[in-house]
Amino acid sequence: MEHIKAVIFDLDNTLLDRTTTFRRFAERFMKHYFSHIESADLDLLLERLIVLDEDGYKNKPVLFAELLNEFPWNKERNKPLVDDLMEYYAENYVISAVLMEQAEEVITHAKGKYKMGIITNGRNAVQYGKIDHLGIRDHFDVILVSEEAGSKKPDPRIFQLAMERLNVRPEECLFVGDHPINDVEGAYILGMHTIWMKVNQPWSENNTAKPLHTIHQIQELLSIM
Ligand SMILES: [Mg+2]
Repeated sequence: MEHIKAVIFDLDNTLLDRTTTFRRFAERFMKHYFSHIESADLDLLLERLIVLDEDGYKNKPVLFAELLNEFPWNKERNKPLVDDLMEYYAENYVISAVLMEQAEEVITHAKGKYKMGIITNGRNAVQYGKIDHLGIRDHFDVILVSEEAGSKKPDPRIFQLAMERLNVRPEECLFVGDHPINDVEGAYILGMHTIWMKVNQPWSENNTAKPLHTIHQIQELLSIM
């Protein structure tokens, strides 16, 4: 990795354990709104909520509208509106954030050797909220959220903006992410080196990217970098 000057990470399901984070939020949500449901059924509803979330790739207002249609809301209480659920989400999702196991070791290790970046798709309040809840903001030279960048992965512009700010060329960058298109293909097409972190997203036949490595856990980077 002598030619690499910067490591750029995706956030959700790369540094942050998004699967566990959403599950923790979902448990809170179910307890809050569905205390009238008995526990066996509650477990089924919890799993259904996790399926409907589609690994975070569904817009939250759409998800919450579906829940309002499908779920057995308490008839003795006023049924919430999509806006009420969005407000609950804004207050309770960020505080559910957890890092991947050994992500801190990986960050500390990489920080000693490379410039550090994060490029993440999403809203500023949610993404920075999670980053600050995890206390990792200061470890990174550049953090770009798609909302503030005005473009989202795999659009080359968000990668280019990060490279400008890090003052590096694509071939000097290693991009680590879980999404085959948004992360791996997007970075690869620009000429970055890539590592695919296989979590929930399947590889697509349309991908042309050739990642240097495929990993299943972030700590595998300790021996690669
Ligand atoms: Mg991701």
